[in-house]
Amino acid sequence: MDIAFRSQKPAAVEVQDLHVRLGGNPVLRGVNLRIEAGRMVALIGPNGSGKTTLLRCLLGLQKPDSGSVRLLQEGPPGPGILKRMGYVPQRLQLDPSFMLTVREFLAIRRPLTASWFWRPSRQIDALLHEAVGEMDVTRLLDRPVAGLSGGQLQRVLICSSLLNEPELLLLDEPTAGVDTPGEADFYELIAEVHRRRGLTVVLVSHDLSMVYRHASRVYALNGVICCEGAPEEVMNAESLRQAYGIHFTPYQHQHPHSHGSHGH
Ligand code: ADP
Repeated sequence: MDIAFRSQKPAAVEVQDLHVRLGGNPVLRGVNLRIEAGRMVALIGPNGSGKTTLLRCLLGLQKPDSGSVRLLQEGPPGPGILKRMGYVPQRLQLDPSFMLTVREFLAIRRPLTASWFWRPSRQIDALLHEAVGEMDVTRLLDRPVAGLSGGQLQRVLICSSLLNEPELLLLDEPTAGVDTPGEADFYELIAEVHRRRGLTVVLVSHDLSMVYRHASRVYALNGVICCEGAPEEVMNAESLRQAYGIHFTPYQHQHPHSHGSHGH
């Protein structure tokens, strides 16, 4: 569409004419998507619009009926490419008997520290320290993972995916389990990681008002990418209104930090 979009910068994600039917329903009906490497973008859409299905295609968990996915300039998702990616799910159902502390949970995610339970924790901390600092989980290291709040667990999961130094980070509804006051800080942390590391970040959300401040580009999904552009452009687009109707959260131009207003 616009000239910047057609520039020759390498793509972290390229999806072409992707079709997926589930239970006889056409869920993805020709998705075309190109996400430039190094950007922080949002993939939005109401419930049922195919976000999870598209994510599953990007992770190689769902085989498309037709069309193609090419990641990190290499090819379709496979073991080699998945190692270069991080994925943070919406929720992780943990049994309360899950015994690991945050430190242990993080240590087993890193090949170098995976079998280091017998080592002094300060040796483990030295190796985990960069990602732990970035996601502000230092104070949580001795806590059991199963006892964390939703927001704390999200930070730990992102921290754990950073340990593998991903080039592409996919975050599914990143604030689903985070209480409202925690949301702004949470996006700040991710935005800071994005700035520092220069990796590509894809935020998947049903709610644009949560992501518009940090995403440089927004892709609106409804079986197809029905609209894309800068957050302000997308929210003002008539096609988006038609595709999503009144259920979609409107763009709130002056709301940052204005408490007490629901802005509908
Ligand atoms: P989103 O993540 O945007 O809420 P999904 O990708 O989960 O959307 O689902 C898109 C549509 O596909 C929904 O209408 C859902 O009911 C349908 N769907 C998802 N999984 C299946 C399945 N296994 N069989 C049949 N329909 C499915």
